[in-house]
Amino acid sequence: MLLKNKIAIISGASRGIGRAIALELAREGANIAFNYLKSKLEAQDLEEELMALGVRAKASQVNISDFDAVSEWVKETKEFFGGLDIVINNAGIIKDMALMFMAKVDWQEVIDTNLGGVFNLTRAAITGFMKEKSGNIINISSVSGIVGMAKQTNYAASKAGILGFTKSLAKEVGAYNIRVNAVAAGFIETDMTKALKASYKDEMLKQIPFGRFGKPQEVAKAVKFLASEEAGYITGEVIVVDGGLTMA
Ligand code: NAP
Repeated sequence: MLLKNKIAIISGASRGIGRAIALELAREGANIAFNYLKSKLEAQDLEEELMALGVRAKASQVNISDFDAVSEWVKETKEFFGGLDIVINNAGIIKDMALMFMAKVDWQEVIDTNLGGVFNLTRAAITGFMKEKSGNIINISSVSGIVGMAKQTNYAASKAGILGFTKSLAKEVGAYNIRVNAVAAGFIETDMTKALKASYKDEMLKQIPFGRFGKPQEVAKAVKFLASEEAGYITGEVIVVDGGLTMA
């Protein structure tokens, strides 16, 4: 087991990629704290599924864009589990539309959730990691933040921001034995991509060398690698998981 007795906190794990990450890390022996916003039943189901794997698990309803609530969640998590080793910043939303139609609220909500959430959770954990001289942070970004996507100025800005955040923090805290990395996903089969128009999906599929969207588990495998000591000399790195869509 790669992560036996480690304690991981994951934002937005009630569905999709976060859920797959929680299960993947738990199979490697990690105890899991995770939050959600609305999906209480899905969160309860996941909590039970994780405990059935023989690890400790705790679901909490916390809005990731609420700085004080996230600080409190991290404090409670440390008390409940007796420490913290791994932070996975995964929670994210889309509000896709052309910039000329984008309301201020659609810009702000995406930035506050996707980028603000990364700040809130990492900020709450970083002091403890620095005191311990140990810690591991993994941020879920998107290829949209690398190559850009039409009608995603808000989302792409948030995801590009995460990459700058990742590299800056990796430089800042490397001397404290804290690793900070990102996984930039391409099109992955979750509720987030379910809503895409069929014609747009077909267009994208033609551009993906593998000819298919990825599965949440395929992102989770990359996260597991970064979370483990197998990646012990890797920091400030971005692993792209996109079936070849954006290869240089
Ligand atoms: P998803 O299926 O829509 O799940 C999003 C998760 O985030 C849910 O658990 C949701 O909780 C949670 N969440 C959303 N807003 C939150 C908030 N304010 N506070 C707390 N939790 C919140 O999305 P996904 O496709 O798994 O995406 C996960 C991450 O991967 C996101 O950062 C996304 O940008 C990134 N990503 C996804 C793709 C893709 O193709 N799917 C590609 C690249 C990157 P509730 O269930 O309670 O709403």
